[in-house]
Amino acid sequence: AESSRYRPIKRLDESVVNRIAAGEIIHRPANALKELIENSLDAGATLIRITLKEGGIKMLQIQDNGSGIQPSDLPLLCERFATSKLRDFGDLENMSTFGFRGEALASISYVTASMNVVSKTKHQDCAFRAYYANGSLTPSKPGQSADPKQCAGTDGTLITAEDLFYNVPQRRRALRSAADEYNRALDVVSKYAVHYGGKGVGFVCRKASSNATDLNTPSSPTNSTLDTIRTLHGNAVARELVQLKGVADGNLGFQCHGWVSGANWSSKRTTMLCFINNRLVDCPLLKRSIEALYATLLPKGGHPWVYLSITVNPANVDVNVHPTKKEVHFLHEEEIVEHICQDVQKLLAGANSSRTFTFSQ
Ligand code: ADP
Ligand code: MG
Repeated sequence: AESSRYRPIKRLDESVVNRIAAGEIIHRPANALKELIENSLDAGATLIRITLKEGGIKMLQIQDNGSGIQPSDLPLLCERFATSKLRDFGDLENMSTFGFRGEALASISYVTASMNVVSKTKHQDCAFRAYYANGSLTPSKPGQSADPKQCAGTDGTLITAEDLFYNVPQRRRALRSAADEYNRALDVVSKYAVHYGGKGVGFVCRKASSNATDLNTPSSPTNSTLDTIRTLHGNAVARELVQLKGVADGNLGFQCHGWVSGANWSSKRTTMLCFINNRLVDCPLLKRSIEALYATLLPKGGHPWVYLSITVNPANVDVNVHPTKKEVHFLHEEEIVEHICQDVQKLLAGANSSRTFTFSQ
């Protein structure tokens, strides 16, 4: 009986391996979208337009005005571990791009029923359209060739992915409602829009079912971060924010700036936008420390609004600790967080005294 239970070891099919790996990187529409936004930013885009159907589950589309993709690169575009950004392991010490592993587009092509890309560089006369499935070029219809075809298009890249997780039923079932997934996706767009609003990058996000936009920020060099915050979060919070300017420490090797709410603002939930080297990340330690600091300042149950942009030496950051890169590790993390919190505290103490002053008038 024992021996009949024995099953020999076999190699998994490459397609199974790749689909499993894709599931580790793409959890839901919002993180597929984050990867695509980061690709557009890596390509130098200044305008990024996003359209989602059923929260991105039915369709996720992103159009940018970045560098575009050369036709000769299209065959490798969705192949796993194919990238234009990283050449050898040593490059990881000094990455200035979001991407480096060449896994995002591959993953998306493994877990969507249909994916197509239209792209044009400014040196080409026309755009090319290519369809992908399971990491490779695929015909758009059975019987046709898989080769990219010329088509009309503007400079930049348009990517459309349809039917996310059509082949991963357990993942598909785990998704929330279309409305919930849409809100998560919109949250990612909104955070990048704030961070890049002051750097001349505009974002548009809408549902495919509507022509009205849910988010629309200008791609204008004169737009400031605070302007974008006001547009997206409202004046009620924008006018209560104080600017954290140029906190830096040479020994710890970091800089930090941002906007944080003062003692007059309090909300039921913390809003935390945290960017490390321009990448949107969860920084649980920083969030906890900031919340602890505000707990002493705000009425019970009140929470702050915080946007922090931290820059550390790329050689000190490990972005490879989490498959979705939403968590990063960096050297001197605890000291840096403590330093930032002390500076926020000082800033608020200053802002506080002026409030007391206006109060007593
Ligand atoms: P990575 O970003 O890690 O290189 P991706 O799978 O996200 O891997 O993308 C693969 C390659 O496709 C990138 O290295 C880049 O050359 C190209 N690419 C992807 N998206 C875009 C885009 N929006 N504009 C221009 N090139 C792109
Ligand atoms: Mg990428």
